[in-house]
Amino acid sequence: PEYVEPKEARRADVTYDDIGGLGSTIDQVREMVELPLRYPELFQRLGVDPPKGVLLHGPPGTGKTRLARAVANESHAEFFHIAGPEIMGSAYGESEKRLREIFEEAGKAAPSIIFIDEIDSIAPKRGQVTGEAEKRLVAQLLTLMDGLESRQNTVVIAATNRPEAIDEALRRPGRFDREIVIGVPDERGRREILGIHTRGMPLGDKVDLAELARTTYGFVGADLAALTREAAIEAVRRIMPRLNLEEKTIPPDVLDTLSVTREDFLE
Ligand code: ATP
Repeated sequence: PEYVEPKEARRADVTYDDIGGLGSTIDQVREMVELPLRYPELFQRLGVDPPKGVLLHGPPGTGKTRLARAVANESHAEFFHIAGPEIMGSAYGESEKRLREIFEEAGKAAPSIIFIDEIDSIAPKRGQVTGEAEKRLVAQLLTLMDGLESRQNTVVIAATNRPEAIDEALRRPGRFDREIVIGVPDERGRREILGIHTRGMPLGDKVDLAELARTTYGFVGADLAALTREAAIEAVRRIMPRLNLEEKTIPPDVLDTLSVTREDFLE
């Protein structure tokens, strides 16, 4: 399923407050990515190289992309997004070229974050791929990672839900040598995520987010976001009969009665 929200794709204003249920994972990411990006002098002083590559690993829709955007935003870093499958589709030699260009642009824009979504699609185990194009792309990515100077202040964050499927060479020291597991949210996490996605919604008195969190076992962030969107659409459907479509705007008294009810969520 396609979970990407096009609107969010253009926005870089997501913050840590817009991510639910990831608690200490956010602290890990801050330590690994935000600190070195914001205060490179800390690491220089200690004489250690900050991480160049971090692998986020977890099921689809758990917030990996959103987390990468939030870190970029909160670190005041430029955000470069590479969609794995998309870059793969290009013509002969084009994929490598595109990859090189993005790394170059990101280097110039530093501090910056390059986010590679679904990295397994561009860097599968070389032993298991037959196509020359795939092999060349993995090799190109390795070269680019190695070429990143640690003082250059660019961090590559990659996401996958199949960490065992990516080329082992990518996980060696100096490449994606840090790994952060992003899990499916528990009840508390789901409650937090529901809170985030209903933040700006007028909710009916009977809406009980704790109850919704209890009854949505197995839902990930993307599912919960979809659930609140659907509920809002139900609310719009209910008010439709009261709208006069000849009017350019909706009268305030009608708008004031618009709220998302418990039933809208349960539909
Ligand atoms: P994929 O691996 O499929 O790309 P992902 O893990 O990168 O998924 P996102 O694209 O970040 O997931 O999430 C999709 C949408 O789901 C987000 O835009 C957001 O609306 C919602 N969402 C997912 N996880 C969370 C979360 N932890 N907190 C709040 N919203 C979330």
